[in-house]
Amino acid sequence: MAIYVVLLGAPGAGKGTQAKRLQAILGLPQVATGDLFRHNLKNETELGKLAKTYMDRGELVPDEVTVAMVRDRLSQEDCVNGAILDGFPRTLSQAAALDDLLKEFNGEISVVPYIHVEQEELVKRLLKRAEIEGRSDDNEETIRTRMRVYEEQTRPLLDYYREKGLLVQINGQQSIEAVQADLLNAIRNIMKKVQ
Ligand code: AMP
Repeated sequence: MAIYVVLLGAPGAGKGTQAKRLQAILGLPQVATGDLFRHNLKNETELGKLAKTYMDRGELVPDEVTVAMVRDRLSQEDCVNGAILDGFPRTLSQAAALDDLLKEFNGEISVVPYIHVEQEELVKRLLKRAEIEGRSDDNEETIRTRMRVYEEQTRPLLDYYREKGLLVQINGQQSIEAVQADLLNAIRNIMKKVQ
C-alpha cells in the first residue's frame, strides 16, 4: 500500500529540509507545492505567472489551481508508492480535496507529523534564510503575512488531523538530525502497521 506522509508546520519549521532527507532515506518523492510553484515561476509558465502575484504577497495561491497541480504531480510514475507532501494541504478545503484525491488513487494519508517550533524562533529562521537563499518572499512584511495566513488558514488542520488520529507532534527545536530521527520513528511505526 502507498504511503502518503503530510508534513505540517509553520513557515520556517524545517519541513523542506526534513522532506528532502526523508525522500533520500525512504525513497518516497518530496512533493512540495512551494517548490512546484517556484519551478513554474522560473520557467515563466502561465501557472507560474499566476502564482507569482500571490507568492510575492505571502498569500495562498487559490485552492483550485493548487489542487490541480498536486493531482497532476501525484499522478506521475514516481509517486506510485506514495509521497512526502510538504506545504500541502494548507487549508481545510485543500485537506478535503486531498482526501478525495487519494481515494481516486486507492490510498489514504498514513501519518501527519507536525513539526512544532515557537513563533519567535520561526521569524528568526526565516530572516536568516532570506539572507542566505535570497528567496524573494522571505522579507519582513511577507513573513508577517505568511505567519498570519498560517495561523488563520493552516493551523485548523492540526485539529482536523488530530481528530482523525493521524497527527504526531515532533519537537522542531532540536538539531536537524534529532528532528529527522523523531520523524523517521513516527513514520516507520506507521509503515510497520500498514505493510
Ligand atoms: P513555501 O515554499 O511552502 O513556503 O510556499 C511559498 C509560497 O507558495 C506560499 O507563500 C504560497 O504563496 C504558495 N504556496 C505553497 N504551497 C501552497 C498551498 N498548498 N496552497 C496555496 N499556496 C501555496
